[in-house]
Amino acid sequence: MEKIDVVIVGGGLSGLACAYRLAEKDLQIIVVERGDFPGSKNVTGGRIYMMPIREMVGDMLDGAPFERKVVRERWSLLGEGNSVGIDLISENFRKEEHSYTVLRAIFDRWLGDKLMEKGVFVIPKYRVDDLLWEGNKVVGVRAGTEEIFANVVVASDGVLSFLGEKAGIRPKMEPGNYAVGIKEVIELPEEKINDRFNVQSGEGVAHLFLGDVTKGLFGGGFLYTNKESVSLGVVVGIKALMGRTTGLEAHTLMEAFKERYELKTLIKDGHLSEYSAHIIPEGGYGGISKIYGNGIILTGDAAGFALNMGVTVRGMEFAIASGIIGAEAILKAKETGDYSEKTLSSYEARLKETFVLQDLQACQNMPAYLDNEVFFNLYPRSIPDLAEKVMWFDRGPKAKIGKTLWENMKASGLLSLKSLIELYKIKNL
Ligand SMILES: Cc1cc2nc3c(=O)[nH]c(=O)nc-3n(C[C@H](O)[C@H](O)[C@H](O)COP(=O)(O)OP(=O)(O)OC[C@H]3O[C@@H](n4cnc5c(N)ncnc54)[C@H](O)[C@@H]3O)c2cc1C
Repeated sequence: MEKIDVVIVGGGLSGLACAYRLAEKDLQIIVVERGDFPGSKNVTGGRIYMMPIREMVGDMLDGAPFERKVVRERWSLLGEGNSVGIDLISENFRKEEHSYTVLRAIFDRWLGDKLMEKGVFVIPKYRVDDLLWEGNKVVGVRAGTEEIFANVVVASDGVLSFLGEKAGIRPKMEPGNYAVGIKEVIELPEEKINDRFNVQSGEGVAHLFLGDVTKGLFGGGFLYTNKESVSLGVVVGIKALMGRTTGLEAHTLMEAFKERYELKTLIKDGHLSEYSAHIIPEGGYGGISKIYGNGIILTGDAAGFALNMGVTVRGMEFAIASGIIGAEAILKAKETGDYSEKTLSSYEARLKETFVLQDLQACQNMPAYLDNEVFFNLYPRSIPDLAEKVMWFDRGPKAKIGKTLWENMKASGLLSLKSLIELYKIKNL
C-alpha cells in the first residue's frame, strides 16, 4: 500500500488553495475533481473580497483572471411594481484592491492550471465515492475500483460534503441551514456594460435586491458585472421555500425577476451563455459542525464556511483561507508524522485566530435575524410605496409631506412594535 501525503477531494477554491500551499513545501499531493475541469461545476454570485486574504495568499493570485473591480455597491428594495435603491460609490473602492467579480469556470480553471505548472496532479472527471479506513482513522479515498491512500484526506467537496458525512463529523442536511441559488450569465459587449452601469473599463457593480424578487421569502437577487457579461441570480432559503404552499419555485422567481423593469433595461439584448443552480450554506456560525477527524479535515463550503451578511454574501475568501490554513495544519502534522484528530485540531485553533471563525462568530445572530418577514417583506413592500407616495403629484393639492410620511408609516406597519423591535435588534448583529 503506497501512501501519498495528501489527497484533496474537490477542485474548487478551497481545495486548490490548500494544494497550492502544500505544493510550496514539496508534498506529494493529488487533487481530484469530479467535473470536466476545475471550475466546471462551481457556482458563485460572485464577488470575492481580497483584503481578508491578501497577506495569506502570497503569490497564489498573481495574474488571476478577475473580471472587474467592484467600485459601486447597489441595494434595491423591490416592492410590487416599484423599488427604492441605494447606490454607494467610493473612491476607496476604486483605489484599493477591495473586491473583484469572478467567473468560476475561468478563475478556478486558471488556478488549477497554475497548480499543474507547479507539478501538482489535478485529476478531472474523478468522482470519489467513499473513504478508506484503518480502524477509526481515514487513510484515503475510493473512486469506483480505484483507491488512493494518503496520510490526510482534505474534504473540499463543497456544500453537500458527503465525505464529511461519511467521516461521521458532519450531520445530515438541515433545510434551515441552506439556500438554493439560480444563476444566469448573460453576455453583453464591454462598452454596453460600461454605459449601462456608468462605470469605466475594468470597473464594476455589485447589486443586491430584496423583497419581491423572492416574494417576501428569505433570500434575494444579485447582479454582478463581469468584463463582457453580467451574473444574475436569485437565492432563496430552502426552509422558506418548503414552507410555502403556493408551489413557488426558485426558477419561476428567476423568470419573474428578469421580467422586472429594473432588470430588463440592464440585460436588454444580452445573450444567455450559462445557467446553473447550486446550494449555499446559510447556517453561519451555528451551522458549523466538527471540521476535523483522524486523518481528515473539511474546508470551505464543506465545513460550512459561508456568511450571508444581509447586504453581501461571503464564501470564496473563506474557502481560500480555510484551504490555506488547512494546509498549514497538515504541514505541522507532517513534522511529527502524527495525523490524528488531536494533531489536526490545530486547524480549528488557527482558524479561530483569523477572520474565518472570528467573522462567522461575530455574525452568529445574523441567520436568525434574517429569518424574519419584516426584513424580506415589510420593509421592501412598504418603503418603496412610501417613497412613491411622497413623490406622487396628483391633480388636486399636494398633501403635506410630513403628514403623508407619518400616516403611511403607521398604516404600513413600519412603526409597529414588531418592526421597531427588529430595528432595535440590529445592535446585536
Ligand atoms: C448562487 C451563489 C452565489 C454566491 N455568491 C457569492 C459571492 O458573491 N461571494 C462569495 O464570496 N461567495 C458566494 N457564494 C459562495 C461561494 O461560491 C462558495 O462559498 C465557494 O464556492 C465555496 O468554495 P469551495 O471550494 O468550498 O466549494 P465548491 O466551489 O463548491 O467546490 C467543491 C468542488 O468539489 C467537487 N466535488 C464534490 N464532490 C466530489 C466528489 N465526490 N469527488 C470529486 N469532486 C467532488 C465539486 O465538483 C466542486 O468542484 C455564492 C454561492 C452561490 C451558490
